[in-house]
Amino acid sequence: QHEAALAARSKDNLRSPICCILGHVDTGKTKLLDKIRQTNVQEGEAGGITQQIGATYFPVEAIKQKTEVVNQDKSIEFNIPGLLVIDTPGHESFTNLRSRGSSLCNIAILVVDIMHGLEPQTLESIRLLRDRKTPFIVALNKIDRLYGWEAIPNNGFQDSLSKQSKAVQNEFRDRMTQTKLAFSEQGLNTELFYDNKNMGRYVSFVPTSAHTGEGIPDMLKLLVTLTQQRMAEKLMYLSELECTVLEVKVIEGLGTTIDVVLSNGVLKEGDRIVLCGLNGPIATNVRALLTPQPLKELRIKGQYVHHKEVKAALGVKIAANDLENAIAGSRLLVVGPEDDEEDLEEEVMSDLEGLLNKVEKS
Ligand code: GDP
Repeated sequence: QHEAALAARSKDNLRSPICCILGHVDTGKTKLLDKIRQTNVQEGEAGGITQQIGATYFPVEAIKQKTEVVNQDKSIEFNIPGLLVIDTPGHESFTNLRSRGSSLCNIAILVVDIMHGLEPQTLESIRLLRDRKTPFIVALNKIDRLYGWEAIPNNGFQDSLSKQSKAVQNEFRDRMTQTKLAFSEQGLNTELFYDNKNMGRYVSFVPTSAHTGEGIPDMLKLLVTLTQQRMAEKLMYLSELECTVLEVKVIEGLGTTIDVVLSNGVLKEGDRIVLCGLNGPIATNVRALLTPQPLKELRIKGQYVHHKEVKAALGVKIAANDLENAIAGSRLLVVGPEDDEEDLEEEVMSDLEGLLNKVEKS
């Protein structure tokens, strides 16, 4: 089995890391996501960014384009095939993305409003990230609100800062220093990304503006370098199935469906799946694996692309019978030829207590 695992470590079997965005309300999480998704019309479908179910996929080509301005010397190494960013920022999707106590979110962006510093939900996010031992970076967002900021759209942060007046530079330093202090009160060492020589010990601050796009190339660059540095190498290859239910939804013509994140492995049409239900385990067959139509065809309502097979990491909608009582946050398992269905049912149901506690709290 070990040999098989080694053989599987070919370039064709690389999987993409999963990224979540967390932070206090109104810090700009949604806007940041919109901004990184934004494609330059002239470039067409910027390197194939695709909208999935509950997530956006950034192939490495798109990330290369978007980091070009801070990669003039071509020093960034790109080993990952791409990055899957979860579309619903916040605690909910982060906490749902877990399996046996560990997080399936491989890296996170904690967004802080540079004008406000740490806020209650920032502290909560820090606790969650620490509990799950998830590596993260801090986006110090809304730098364009520093008084007198002169924007250079989509520029690297360091260059933009160097072109600001002394007063703006000072205000930036002051606010950053205050935020650093607030983080150190939480027991976290932080450092501005280009001064950070040890990403294992210091959390990187990356100043951004979701309005002007400044700092976003730096943020993407950091996500790539940090995942490659901190994600255990084995996590970068397709292996055992890991799949989590993010949402349960009724869709006209399809009945009750589940939106899942496949964080590792392969799912096929017809697979026998087992997941957690309110009235006991659910065992059913995958009728359809669906993703949205490409952006330009999105207006054709209710049209999905059908897939015979999907590979991690991606967000996909599953249509199947008997999903009415499925629970968000449940693990999904596939019954293999050697597996005993009842064993798997027991396994998924062992998560139930944790899931129900969560349902009651929310
Ligand atoms: P979320 O609740 O964290 O998802 O925050 P939103 O993305 O909805 O943003 C909250 C508000 O802040 C909106 O009015 C945004 O237009 C504004 N906003 C977000 N990012 C920036 C930014 O970088 N600069 C400025 N000036 N405003 C921003």
